[in-house]
Amino acid sequence: MTQSEREMIRRVILEGTEFVLVCHLDPDGDAIGSLLGFGLSLEAAGKKVKFISPDGVPRNYTFLPGAARVKKELETMARGTVAIALDCADLGRTGEVGAMLQDQPHFINVDHHPTNTNFGRWNIVDDSAAATAELAFFLIQELGLPLTLDVGICLYTGIHTDTGGFRYENTTARSHEVAMALLNLGVKPALITDYVYDQKPLTELRLLAGALQRLQVSEDGLLAWISLPRSVLTTCGTDDTSGLINYPRMVAGVEFAFLFKEDEDGTVRVSLRSRQVDVSRLAVQFGGGGHARAAGCTVPGSLTTVEEAVLTVARKMLQEAKGNA
Ligand code: AMP
Ligand code: MN
Ligand code: MN
Repeated sequence: MTQSEREMIRRVILEGTEFVLVCHLDPDGDAIGSLLGFGLSLEAAGKKVKFISPDGVPRNYTFLPGAARVKKELETMARGTVAIALDCADLGRTGEVGAMLQDQPHFINVDHHPTNTNFGRWNIVDDSAAATAELAFFLIQELGLPLTLDVGICLYTGIHTDTGGFRYENTTARSHEVAMALLNLGVKPALITDYVYDQKPLTELRLLAGALQRLQVSEDGLLAWISLPRSVLTTCGTDDTSGLINYPRMVAGVEFAFLFKEDEDGTVRVSLRSRQVDVSRLAVQFGGGGHARAAGCTVPGSLTTVEEAVLTVARKMLQEAKGNA
């Protein structure tokens, strides 16, 4: 981004009065955290803000300040509204609202996915950031927007969840610096992590038990996966599979981990994780995207066909990686 583009974005935001903020389908903590964190800061600066998350707010993020304000759909958007997509790798990730956003002259894309397609009129895309919430923090600082405690709680949640609690490779000194600034605002990490990770309805723990029973590992021990048919989700009484991908990833020696979740519309939602190979390349081949070590895609087909197709490509990628080593 050139200096003059940066200056234009600055003016668009500071002079804007009405904002629509949107995060990605099937949202995670960074999607909701950066949506709410940046939006609440704009609001504290006197702007009018609408918050859109096409798939709503997952239960464990409903404690976040402003969560009750989030809507799934946007009825109208006045021309001149500043539209901002947060944590979305491509326009499709914003869901049906994407078409309306694209029509706006002031459409800003704030994201940290290396597969980002620069779909906005203005693009603040930096894949060295651990989380979009980190980028939102710097944007708030640069623009002189209010950094309230509520904003801090949301941004901290985004950074904590996207770094796996400061454990993943994307964690940098900068992530810790931003976290420090947020703690200095009064953010209480233990309160947040208790809500986000440590309080689960019994249905989700039952699903975890069911998922662990379905954990499979390839003969060579390099691939591990869990496949969840609708029947398991229905029996357990929950559709929330967040966090389950961590279990195949946890099997010692595994390079590739997968979670295959059968959706109601004839598609399979795939979560991918890896230790060394760039898994976003695999996700892109199936119409998705993401980061080198964490990516995702939604693939039409039955659970078994999608599972077989993805695992076949993964095996090929591993062989290629071995050949190059
Ligand atoms: P998940 O497995 O849903 O936790 O997603 C892992 C990472 O991949 C996250 O950073 C997502 O934003 C990204 N991701 C997931 N699905 C897609 C998709 N269909 N297109 C682009 N990026 C995705
Ligand atoms: Mn995300
Ligand atoms: Mn993110």
